[in-house]
Amino acid sequence: MFNFSKEQIERYSRHIILKEVGGMGQTKLLESKVLLIGAGGLGSPIAVYLAAAGVGTLGIIDDDVVDLSNLQRQILHGTSDIGIPKTKSAEATITEMNPDVNVISINERINSENAFQILEQYDLIVDGCDNFPTRYLINDACVMLGKPIVHGSIFQFDGQVTVLYPGKGPCYRCIFPEPPPAGLAPSCQEAGVFGVLPGIIGTIQAVEAIKILLDIGDSLIGTLLLFDALTMTFNRMKLRQDEDCPMCGENPTITELIDYEEFCEVQW
Ligand code: ZN
Repeated sequence: MFNFSKEQIERYSRHIILKEVGGMGQTKLLESKVLLIGAGGLGSPIAVYLAAAGVGTLGIIDDDVVDLSNLQRQILHGTSDIGIPKTKSAEATITEMNPDVNVISINERINSENAFQILEQYDLIVDGCDNFPTRYLINDACVMLGKPIVHGSIFQFDGQVTVLYPGKGPCYRCIFPEPPPAGLAPSCQEAGVFGVLPGIIGTIQAVEAIKILLDIGDSLIGTLLLFDALTMTFNRMKLRQDEDCPMCGENPTITELIDYEEFCEVQW
């Protein structure tokens, strides 16, 4: 059992008195290592809630700087952070929230060269990225490493969340085998995004991440949760592992990481 300080007992008291968490669960969280992909719209609530909950090591990878147009939704950052790296701004916000958290800032873009070396150091990956090349790269690398991903994505007023757990359920390619061709993907600048939406989707990702770390409840493995902010509707869709999946199927055709062409440069 973790040797809690007096201050930690008080900080985490509302967790410790929950029978599903308790001192053991809080210890698990403090000993957990989570990697967050992206410190943007989804990454903001994910980082803040994981830090507040006492996830002990939080890696954050993002190579972008804070832009004024981010502040409509990216609540990790403030007006005085404009122009500084998002990882630096995120680290300051998280440390202020909870100095127990060891923040590992990675001011890079994840790619086929660095993916394994970064991902293998974490227990769980939370995907808050905004683009298909990164999403597919993380999926493929995590299938190869056997690491679970809490996936979230948003588009205008709609969002989706699922948990991709190698060996326990489908991977991203079981659902969407290939990324859309560059010419067919909607322009993110034109698409826009409702500012509160990543707050809802990212918060659900944080819930799923903490449940996996604590091994409690029923996770979204094999279920795609769909949210529509305009009609305030949640729907659940059953997902099955595809035996013909090019990544995790019986005869995988993808055996190395692929750097797909970037076709959306705007940060959600
Ligand atoms: Zn698959």
